[in-house]
Amino acid sequence: MAFESLLEPEERVLSTLEADGSRRWLYPRLSKGPWWQRRRAFAYALIAVFLALPWLRVGGEPLILLDIVHRRFHLFGYTFLPTDTVLLAILVLAVFVAVFFFTAVLGRVFCGWLCPHNVFLEYVYRPIERVFTGKAGVGGAPKQNLAGWRKLAMYGVFLLISLLLANTFVAYFVGSTELVRWVWTTPPWAHPVAFGVVALCTAWIMWDMAFWREQLCIVGCPYGRFQSVMLDRHSLIVSYDPKRGEPRGKPRKSKHGDTSLPVLGDCIDCSMCVVVCPTGIDIRDGLQMECINCTQCIDACDDVMDRVDRPRGLIRYSAQARIDGEPSRLLRPRTVLYPAALVALLSLFTVVFLAKPATDLTVLRGMGRPFAVMPDGQIENQLRIKLVNRTDAARTYTIAVLPEAGGDPLHQQTVNDADVTLAPGETATVPVRLLLNPAAYTTGRLDADVVVTDDRGDVVHETVLLRGPAKAKGPTNAAAAPAEDSNPSAENQP
Ligand code: SF4
Ligand code: SF4
Repeated sequence: MAFESLLEPEERVLSTLEADGSRRWLYPRLSKGPWWQRRRAFAYALIAVFLALPWLRVGGEPLILLDIVHRRFHLFGYTFLPTDTVLLAILVLAVFVAVFFFTAVLGRVFCGWLCPHNVFLEYVYRPIERVFTGKAGVGGAPKQNLAGWRKLAMYGVFLLISLLLANTFVAYFVGSTELVRWVWTTPPWAHPVAFGVVALCTAWIMWDMAFWREQLCIVGCPYGRFQSVMLDRHSLIVSYDPKRGEPRGKPRKSKHGDTSLPVLGDCIDCSMCVVVCPTGIDIRDGLQMECINCTQCIDACDDVMDRVDRPRGLIRYSAQARIDGEPSRLLRPRTVLYPAALVALLSLFTVVFLAKPATDLTVLRGMGRPFAVMPDGQIENQLRIKLVNRTDAARTYTIAVLPEAGGDPLHQQTVNDADVTLAPGETATVPVRLLLNPAAYTTGRLDADVVVTDDRGDVVHETVLLRGPAKAKGPTNAAAAPAEDSNPSAENQP
């Protein structure tokens, strides 16, 4: 029918879709060439680092702990607090620029070598699956449907590994000590959120590793889809050399001096590069978004070239420009601008980082009235002084408010009228009452300096605007204050 032929695709739309739209399951064959061995060594090192990091400590603090609940990130001996938003923002920007830069130079090196999804799929889950399907060491589709007990055992092992990975993932956010306590000493309902997160992560990992697999790279990963704008003709990619390989074809022997056979390129059209590809594409079609630079086709083709006694490298790490016979260029706008931006961001990070005081001080005006006139005629201003102890030791703070023009400290009262002691990383907001003679206010305002000194002599200070009556004229009430004062903290609220 004409209607049916309209729906029939001319060619396969996706490497993992059959022409009728159903999923084409991939069972890539394994090619254990030198690139695979290098990637395997790298992958096992990465897995060891991922599993070990939550357990490592430096100076008694976790090496990495992303404590979202308490809003503290411990990274390599430094603790980022909520007041470090600028530092974290610079760091995140620097990571993005670094990714752009490395992709422009090295192509999708992250996908093939570093991506946790590919590392665990290719070097943990797929090898286990091959053991249960009887294809260990060679890969490819199982010869027959798996027996029920084999499937059950395989998914059981998948589940155990997924549980381990989910728990390790959660340890990055709650810390290994807390995780061990939860797992071994308390029931799940004592910490339902963490238990729920572990259960969700386990389910997600199981689904990804057992079912979704290459679909994550092909349709799910934003980085994969962005790569076309990050790469250029000089970026490193895994590529097939059509000048050398075409016209492809199976070599045939000429008989009795028959010269009619076409002269073929080095590609013998054996399809080995296709059957090993974990995303099911044919690299001979050129650079494709689905290619994760896993190098399996390089290993497979090099092996074929060895067998047919031709030089290796028909498929190799190269750049589109070099494959087309153009000279490669390392210096290009994006390989100059990205590193320049990266250096600028890292310099900015260093400057902001080094300028950070041991104590964060924020002075806020009290809520409500801008000032109040006391029965004895004194003018009261209320302040809220927020302190963050950024150090790794407890510190005691003394607060003083000085007139900016100089002179004796202004009469002040903290709520408990005592110094403030904060534990490492602790935050406190200290209410302070200031009582001044109305004569201090000649224009209705007075600039003052809040000075906080800790027990080691470190000083931080911040200017604050105090409010009072425009003219000293005896007891009155705050309602007589200028209308602009009705917003008590406009100048000082962060
Ligand atoms: S493995 Fe090499 S020789 Fe075989 S089809 Fe692929 S490119 Fe051609
Ligand atoms: S084309 Fe080659 S490098 Fe790209 S995903 Fe397939 S096997 Fe890996």
